[in-house]
Amino acid sequence: LNRSVLIGLIGHGVGPSLTPPMHEMEGARQGLRYLYRTIEFSPDNDPRQRLMELIRSARAFGFDGLNLTYPVKQTALSLLDEMSTSAHMVGAVNTVRWQNGRLIGHNTDVSGFRAALDDALGSEPLGRIVLIGAGGAGSAVSHAVAMRGAEHLTIVDADPHRARDLANNISALHHQAVDAASVDALPSLLPLAQGLINATPIGMADHPGSAVDANLLRPPLWVCDVVYRPVETELLLTARHRGCRTISGLGMAMHQAADAFELFTGKIADRSAMLTHLKHL
Ligand code: NAD
Repeated sequence: LNRSVLIGLIGHGVGPSLTPPMHEMEGARQGLRYLYRTIEFSPDNDPRQRLMELIRSARAFGFDGLNLTYPVKQTALSLLDEMSTSAHMVGAVNTVRWQNGRLIGHNTDVSGFRAALDDALGSEPLGRIVLIGAGGAGSAVSHAVAMRGAEHLTIVDADPHRARDLANNISALHHQAVDAASVDALPSLLPLAQGLINATPIGMADHPGSAVDANLLRPPLWVCDVVYRPVETELLLTARHRGCRTISGLGMAMHQAADAFELFTGKIADRSAMLTHLKHL
């Protein structure tokens, strides 16, 4: 028999996550006995202590690795023995595994978004990019954009401090022209931009609507949404209706899972099979 692989996802409200079936399907496709369990992280007075207990227990119960999601991606940093460059840059980890007894952290949201962008745009230069949302996803997106290199990146957030902090962080770590702007600046920014990326939760079932006025969506602007539940957000539907190219959040979701799968198993994931499966979940 092939060896077995046991992976967990620690986070709050992880029960309905699509990540477990994505991993298990790919494991089964490769003939592995691959089990992926969700581990609920309830809000706690001492989240670091609680996370440490869960990670220790997972190790004791024979887990091979873990994905981490809201609200523990940053909490985990101080529990690691080592971290990848991207985890260090973003200051967050979504994938941890043990290697020779040491706990190593990675950030596959960065590599996942980068791969999704490469799939959609090939070698096309990024030009001027406007990113809305400077939270966890926006941070991973902005590092991925800066690593690929854009002519200019403007980070917009309803919270101006968040946008400015992230822009400062990008500027300190990458050779990337970057600034922060307020939501009110979108009407002057978007006509000059080649790409718009939404990394706010607006467009999810429980945050309906769009963070951007429909009149601002015009070709040749391409529009990318990291929200993928639903896949067809109001932003993407409107943008496509108005003739813009669109990039859904499914690619990032699939590639972050595929990158984690490869870290956990050392095997190459079949990304197109994973994407097809994700579309049917
Ligand atoms: P977060 O709460 O950390 O950050 C969201 C940010 O958006 C906040 O800074 C907030 O101030 C800002 N914001 C909210 N509404 C705004 C508006 N109307 N205009 C401007 N700024 C606004 O959330 P997060 O963890 O970054 O997640 C954001 C979304 O990304 C979620 O919907 C999540 O599902 C999605 N996501 C997708 C993937 C993927 O693989 N496709 C991965 C991670 C997250």
